[in-house]
Amino acid sequence: MLRDTVVQVDLQAIAYNMDKICEMAGSEVAVMPVIKANGYGHGAVAIAPTLMGHGARYLAVATLTEALELRKCYPEYPLFILGHTPDRLLPFVAEHNITQTIFSRKQAEILSAESMKAGRKTTVHLKVDTGFHRLGTDSLEELEEICSFPGIEAEGIFSHLALVNDEENRKQVDKFLAIIAELEKRKIYFKYKHVADSISSVDYPEFRMNMIRPGALVFGLKGCHKGSIDVKQAISFVTKISQLHWVSKGEGVGYDYLWKAPKDTVIGTLPFGYADGYPRNMREKGYVSIKGIKCPIIGVICMDQCMVDLSEVPDVSEGDTAIIYGNGEDNSMTIEEAAKQAGTNKNEIVARITARPPRKYSE
Ligand SMILES: *Cc1c(COP(=O)(O)O)cnc(C)c1O
Repeated sequence: MLRDTVVQVDLQAIAYNMDKICEMAGSEVAVMPVIKANGYGHGAVAIAPTLMGHGARYLAVATLTEALELRKCYPEYPLFILGHTPDRLLPFVAEHNITQTIFSRKQAEILSAESMKAGRKTTVHLKVDTGFHRLGTDSLEELEEICSFPGIEAEGIFSHLALVNDEENRKQVDKFLAIIAELEKRKIYFKYKHVADSISSVDYPEFRMNMIRPGALVFGLKGCHKGSIDVKQAISFVTKISQLHWVSKGEGVGYDYLWKAPKDTVIGTLPFGYADGYPRNMREKGYVSIKGIKCPIIGVICMDQCMVDLSEVPDVSEGDTAIIYGNGEDNSMTIEEAAKQAGTNKNEIVARITARPPRKYSE
């Protein structure tokens, strides 16, 4: 490890979570873990084998770049792009045998032609817009036409829920099912039908259809309200004290001296900052755990470093470990708590951890 600031990923926790998700889904429902954004910060390429070995049927990402990174390491494994791939890049989708989200006749035509050139068919899932208005179409004619291209294998159909409330969710799902029924009348059938992300696959068992797309759950991040599932946070983020300072009462610390010592105090400098993905707005809210004691971050959080108040920690030394995010034991800040303090959601807290801190995997 070339740095003291390290993202630790517990592969056993990810395996455990996958087992729990598969158990919940049952044998009739395929599980497609979503590992976009570098596997929600955990490292997509490194965690992929654990997912493959614990019931994944497919791996989903958001972008072509993410799919190609995985394709390099896993030449045969089924990969799915949830997002839009621009027309000019569709040849890469065909060439690398990636399953693509499709919602326009024009894209189907291009992808079909490219696939025929390569002498194969490209697998696609049709995206239906049931109200989210992000990606997809609700035009039956367009959906039907997409399926008619010779270089296209329409394996699945899916939609995404806005998760407004029970009534709106039901409306979206009913619209989705009505479109499928209409296509089936026209003799178009799909192997996979899916709408459920982490929250809806737990809260609405009836929305699982025959495939679910959990992201957050894989990493032990729960957002469900009605149902429950036993999953464990897989990530922790740790560092070590680089330097101690003894500051006298009234002295300022950091940019603008925004923190001033209320009494003679020992403070520590830690080698992580907002360029590691730690929210800069955690000033006055963030803390790290050192020897089981909560140490508040003081002053402005810098790009690469921050300072903490160590006055409560006995026998503190340079090199002592500080837990930035942990499982809550040892008074560490959990991802859930970090999300609350930073005014965002858990997915953003982990996805924003940048590539700079090295990842360490425990088996
Ligand atoms: C990101 C994403 C998911 C997974 O979302 P979680 O809330 O993390 O489970 C599922 N489906 C689509 C289309 C997504 O973009």
